[in-house]
Amino acid sequence: MYKIFKFGGASVKDAEGVRNLKKILDIYKDEPLIVVISAMGKMTNQLEKVLDSWYYQPEFLKTNFETVKNFHLDIAKQLENNQEEISAALLPIMDRLWERLAGDNSNNYDKDYDDIVSFGEYLSTKLISTYLNLNGYDNEFACAIHLIKTDDTYREGKVNWEETEKAIREFTAKSSGKTIITQGFIGGTLGNDVTTLGREGSDFSAAIFAYCLNAKDVTIWKDVPGLLNADPKFYPDAVKLDVISYQEAIELAYYGATIIHPKTIKPLQNKNIPLYVKSFLNPSTEGSVISNVEHLENIPSYIFKTEQILLSISPKDFSFIAADNLTKIFSYISKNKLKINLMQNSAVSFTICIDNKPNRFTNLLKDLREEFYVKYNMNKKLITIRHYTQEAIDKVIGDQRVILEQKSRSTLQVVI
Ligand code: ASP
Ligand code: MG
Repeated sequence: MYKIFKFGGASVKDAEGVRNLKKILDIYKDEPLIVVISAMGKMTNQLEKVLDSWYYQPEFLKTNFETVKNFHLDIAKQLENNQEEISAALLPIMDRLWERLAGDNSNNYDKDYDDIVSFGEYLSTKLISTYLNLNGYDNEFACAIHLIKTDDTYREGKVNWEETEKAIREFTAKSSGKTIITQGFIGGTLGNDVTTLGREGSDFSAAIFAYCLNAKDVTIWKDVPGLLNADPKFYPDAVKLDVISYQEAIELAYYGATIIHPKTIKPLQNKNIPLYVKSFLNPSTEGSVISNVEHLENIPSYIFKTEQILLSISPKDFSFIAADNLTKIFSYISKNKLKINLMQNSAVSFTICIDNKPNRFTNLLKDLREEFYVKYNMNKKLITIRHYTQEAIDKVIGDQRVILEQKSRSTLQVVI
C-alpha cells in the first residue's frame, strides 16, 4: 500500500530544503511512496508574472523569465555532487519555456496560464528527481499531465475521476516499484493539454493519488508542527490540534482556514484514508492527524479573514427578500465567481460578506444595481470561532465594534 507525501513550495525553497526532503525520504525508504511536489518557493507567483508580462508588458518578459531560470540554476549549483548533471536536466525545460514565450500567446489567457505556470512544478520535480537519482535515492519521474485527467476548465480543472483512476493504476502497475516523484497542482485533459487544479492545489493532487490507489495514508510536510487552531500570524497563542475529524477539517477549510486546500479532505474521507500534517523541520515529531474520529477536542479554532466587503442589498421595488430576489442575487454572485463568507437577511435587505476581488466585485455591483439598492463597507474583518467559549470571544474580539454577528451551536462569526 502506498504512502503519499506532499511537499509544498516552502519545504523546497532552497538547496537546504532539497537536502532535507531527501533526509525525510530516507527515513521511509522501505515503504512504497508517491511524492507530490509543488513549485519551489514562490515560483508560481513568479511564473504568473512571466505570463502577465507575456500578455501585457513584454518589456519585462525576459527579466521575469530569467528570475525563474536563475532561481533553479542557483539551487542546482548549491547542491553538492553532480550539479552539472542537474543543470543539464533543467536546461532543455527552460529552453522549451523560452521558446513558448518567444512566440505569440494564444489569446486564451487561462489556457496559457496552465501552460506556463505548470513549468514551476515541472522544474521542481525534475530538479529533485535528478538530485535524488544522483545521490543514491533511485526514483521514477512521473508526469502528472498523463495521470490526473481533467476537463478543459483551465486554471480550475475538474477531475475526471474514472479516467484518473485508470491512468494512475495503469502507471503504478507498470512502475518499477521505486519511489515515484510527480508534480502537484497540474493535470491534463484527455487530449493531454496541461491544466491546473487551482492555486495551492497540490494538497488536492496528493489526495487524488491517495483516493485512486487506496493509499495507506497521506502526509503533508509543512513548516508548522501540525494543524494549529489559528494562524499564528494573527493569533500568537496558537496551539496544535493533535486529532481532527474529517468533518471538522472540512468545516475549518470551508470557513477559510488556509492550512489545507479545501478539496483535499472529501476524497480521503470517502476512502477513510488518514491525513497527517507534519513538520518537515522535525520529521520525527507527532504532527496532527485528520481521520475518522469523533471530534473530541474542545479547543476553539479561529479563522481570520481580512479585506472583507460587507454588502447590503435591497430590492428597488420594496419587495421582501424572498426566493425570487435571492435567486437573482445568487445568480449574479455565481456569475462573478465570488464566494459568500457570511450571509444574513431581514425582511427588506440581504447582507453578505465577501472577499475583495476588485474586478469581480465591480462587475457584481454593476449587475446588482440594475434591480437593487446596494450599500457596502470595505476593509472589514471576519472572525470565525469554531467551538467558541466566552473566554475565546473576549480574547479575540475584545472591545472592537461588531457590525454583524451570527451564532450556531458550534460556530460564531462576527464582522468587525
Ligand atoms: N504551486 C502551486 C501554488 O503555489 C500549487 C501549490 O503550491 O499547491 O499555487
Ligand atoms: Mg505553492
